[in-house]
Amino acid sequence: MNKDIAELHIVMYQSGKAFTEYRKTSPEQKANFLETIASNIEGLGDSLIAKAAEETHLPVARLTGERGRTTMQLRMFAQMLREGSWVQASVDTAIPDKTPAKPDIRKMLYPLGPVVVFGASNFPFAYSTAGGDTASALAAGCTVVVKAHPAHLQTSCMVAEAITQAIRSSEMPEHIFQHVTHTDFESGKILVQHPATAAVGFTGSYSGGRALYDYAAARKNPIPVFSEMGSINPVILLPDTLQHNAESIAKQYAGSITLGMGQFCTNPGLLIAIEAEGLHHFIEKLGNEIAAVAPAQMLHPGIHKAYFTKMQLALAEKGVDLLSQSTVLPTGIEAQPAIAITKAANFLQNPLLQEEVFGPYSLLVTCKDKEELIAVWTSVTGQLTTTLMGTDSDFTDFSSLLDIAPSIAGRILINGVPTGVEVCPSMVHGGPFPASTDSRFTAVGIEAVKRWVRPVAYQNFPDALLPEALKNGNPLHIWRMINNEWTKD
Ligand code: NAP
Repeated sequence: MNKDIAELHIVMYQSGKAFTEYRKTSPEQKANFLETIASNIEGLGDSLIAKAAEETHLPVARLTGERGRTTMQLRMFAQMLREGSWVQASVDTAIPDKTPAKPDIRKMLYPLGPVVVFGASNFPFAYSTAGGDTASALAAGCTVVVKAHPAHLQTSCMVAEAITQAIRSSEMPEHIFQHVTHTDFESGKILVQHPATAAVGFTGSYSGGRALYDYAAARKNPIPVFSEMGSINPVILLPDTLQHNAESIAKQYAGSITLGMGQFCTNPGLLIAIEAEGLHHFIEKLGNEIAAVAPAQMLHPGIHKAYFTKMQLALAEKGVDLLSQSTVLPTGIEAQPAIAITKAANFLQNPLLQEEVFGPYSLLVTCKDKEELIAVWTSVTGQLTTTLMGTDSDFTDFSSLLDIAPSIAGRILINGVPTGVEVCPSMVHGGPFPASTDSRFTAVGIEAVKRWVRPVAYQNFPDALLPEALKNGNPLHIWRMINNEWTKD
């Protein structure tokens, strides 16, 4: 076995061993630990932001906001742990004189074990080393092994050190978090297929997320993989709103398409509209807005190459025309924002046009009528988001769209833009395949913890042997379902 592979085996073995220790720590200890990670990340100050800016080419303001979101997420999970009801404890007491006798059965959520997290290139903080996957898995009671994204390796190392320091000062078991800097697919495969690995979290490309899912399925004992992958986030532009609001919608959408040079999984990559009076005005305005956006550097040369290649491929397809692009020519790894246009009949016949072009690009599909619009919308695969832009009169004329929307995406918006994912308990960041490999969960908000736990029932346990959350006296003072009634008693 070569040295690198042996190292990965040791990492996973240590993670499995640390899991048995970490499970014994209290919710309060875990909460303090997560809060210490947040404080340590803040303690890295401007040097962390400067390193991330150097590695990712993202602007300082964006990175500062993303760091705030990351530390907020850690504190949110700490709060969840202190409140405690997230474990969904339920108690069904025994009825000995029933025939047959009903046993005492109690249930709660239990951590899966070591989780392998693949950091995302486009969120060096919020979806990387100490991002949502790591924070939610540690909150669940799982140990974590992060495979750093090669595009921001040094940033990842700085954050990993902040977590390691928190482990020491919080007196947590040493290997509950480990950081792996191998940058080859084989290492990823070994981590996913290692017997100690219990689950996987990933954000990135369809090919990457699908590969990890397939590695996990090919194991002797398949494990859950939560891959959050490509999405083109279809937006329906209804006729009455285009007639009245073409200019403001064009401005709003040019901003959303080019935000962060389009490097968001919620980027609106597909606009769908019916050929009507307001559409022509919208096309003209959107074209002008996009032409005025200057190119900017993308995250890394691979993403830049993929953007350029995939856009050229889409534009070379039959019936697809370039509607507008930035009037400034890009240099180096800069992206040139662009909008293409095609008719519904072309889109419906050509699956390539459904593929994500990751960057500041969107395809406008024009439809003859409502039926064609619905055909285009429902032909796309599972999505993270879908948006309906319309007036009250539009929503009366097109009310059937509201019934269709939940089968398309995990988040449905009315009159807004899909970029910008609020971190709160009601957020859903996930969706039917291929937006994610498991549409039952979200990657954002406290509900993200559910990806790393499973329910366990305890039958006929004496009180002294039960986990704290299930003991008769409710020592954690959490909400529990007791004999079908929610109570803190
Ligand atoms: P990526 O290629 O999916 O890589 C992400 C991570 O997964 C990396 O650590 C990579 O390993 C690993 N990986 C990828 N394929 C693998 C495989 N077959 N086996 C084992 N490990 C694998 O993402 P990226 O580098 O950030 O960007 C590439 C493309 O992904 C972009 O051009 C864009 O199209 C898409 N993307 C989409 C989103 C989204 O949210 N929808 C976000 C980011 C990127 P290594 O470290 O060994 O390279």
